[in-house]
Amino acid sequence: MTDYPTLHMMIEGERVTAGSRRTFDVVNPVSGDTLAELPLADGADLDRALDAAQRGFGRWRYTPAAERARVLHGAAALIRERAEALARTATMEQGKPLAEAKLECMAVAAWFDFAAGECQRLYGRELVRPVGQRSVVRWEPVGPVAAFAPWNFPLANPGRKLGAAVAAGCSIILKSAEETPASALGVLQALYDAGLPSDVAQAVFGVPDEVSRHLLSSSVIRKLSFTGSTMVGKHLAKLAADNMIRTTMELGGHGPVLVFGDADIDKALATAASGKTRNAGQVCVSPTRFIVEENVFERFRDGMAERLAATRVGNGLDKDTQMGPMANARRPDAIGKFVADAKDRGARLATGGERIGNQGFFFKPTVLSEVPLDAEVMNEEPFGPLALVNPYAGEDAMIAEANRLNYGLAAFAWTSDVQRQRRIADQLEAGMVGINTHAIAGPDAPFQGVQWSGHGSEDGPEGVKACMVVKAVHEA
Ligand code: NAD
Repeated sequence: MTDYPTLHMMIEGERVTAGSRRTFDVVNPVSGDTLAELPLADGADLDRALDAAQRGFGRWRYTPAAERARVLHGAAALIRERAEALARTATMEQGKPLAEAKLECMAVAAWFDFAAGECQRLYGRELVRPVGQRSVVRWEPVGPVAAFAPWNFPLANPGRKLGAAVAAGCSIILKSAEETPASALGVLQALYDAGLPSDVAQAVFGVPDEVSRHLLSSSVIRKLSFTGSTMVGKHLAKLAADNMIRTTMELGGHGPVLVFGDADIDKALATAASGKTRNAGQVCVSPTRFIVEENVFERFRDGMAERLAATRVGNGLDKDTQMGPMANARRPDAIGKFVADAKDRGARLATGGERIGNQGFFFKPTVLSEVPLDAEVMNEEPFGPLALVNPYAGEDAMIAEANRLNYGLAAFAWTSDVQRQRRIADQLEAGMVGINTHAIAGPDAPFQGVQWSGHGSEDGPEGVKACMVVKAVHEA
């Protein structure tokens, strides 16, 4: 592939290439072939990035809000201009259809514009005090941020973390996933080209555990922002605790979808089927457990199987493709194991259930039904194109199943009963709830989980404030 960029890290404004460093092979998920070699940081690289981040924070925290906003608006415009090339890079290294990668570019641009507006809205407050005294509560940037972003949204995950830190007045060291480095570098480059000083945001890659241990043991880092699995999130939270580093954790989910007999079933099916195949199911808010009222169960199961079986799976660069390969070799293996385990325990396979071909990482969109609750996939996040459809008798049983797991990221419900919509919104234990919609993310809306799905928000005003601390100043 000739149009895949040459890879490097970005430390103190220098493009750091492999030299004698260890490297990681970035792979095209369509073929399994190597696209390029990525340099991995050693301890000296990370120390250099930490020193620069300290300096970058010293200058950026006092940079006027208008200038921070100018940089973010500028980067948003550049990302829109470069969307075609950025999206192509993302598809080449991650696999998702080009149209989805372009939407990701637009989401990053929209977030940068929103975060730019927030720069001017980081208000504090003044307390009521007797004449001659003054007490103010103000927001300040927390300090240098260490951010770890995964491979499923190779543009948007880095974009969320960079935008929040830059708007708040922090510096940031970003370690995006080694599987999808070029997308992250493209987003960072747009910020530089819009005028961001190179010590304010840097990009390193490495052996994840080495990088996170090194950065989190440094007294420079004041904030950790992680997106990824609950297991890794718990591990990083423990490391962060040693230095009392603040954390934002955007972790796994197990998206319950309650479908009631009074819902618009065709609309629910169309929305849920495209939601399930989006990014080959590798989305933390993907609809996963379909909790269907028994009077519409068969119709819903069969409709879902029919729609998923008709999905056009192929190379994300082909314009007809609706679902690309999975992002890396681990994913089809994991999905295959979930399917085998569920079938062994008595689940019915309604469609799919196997890999496609022996090249790349393709897996058929799959529907399992009547899945026993002790099947692994009913308890662990599948992170793939796998829909689990089970029948339930009535609202209480459906809500109980939705809240059964420790995950609480996104939950969805389909019903035309307005009173029920309100009861359900109250009772679902989740950071985000979609009623008759799966559109739950936007630049102005906080994105977060509860329980094992994490804590702290990204996006929205809350996402910028997550990179800040309050200080109360009292004068007499
Ligand atoms: P993983 O759990 O090892 O890694 C998940 C992410 O965390 C990757 O980006 C990885 O680079 C990073 N990571 C891993 N160990 C780390 C460490 N010690 N320090 C810093 N970063 C570290 O495995 P995976 O195979 O990449 O993904 C598997 C599971 O992760 C999926 O099944 C899914 O549940 C979850 N995941 C969630 C999201 C999300 O958006 N919440 C994104 C990607 C993966």
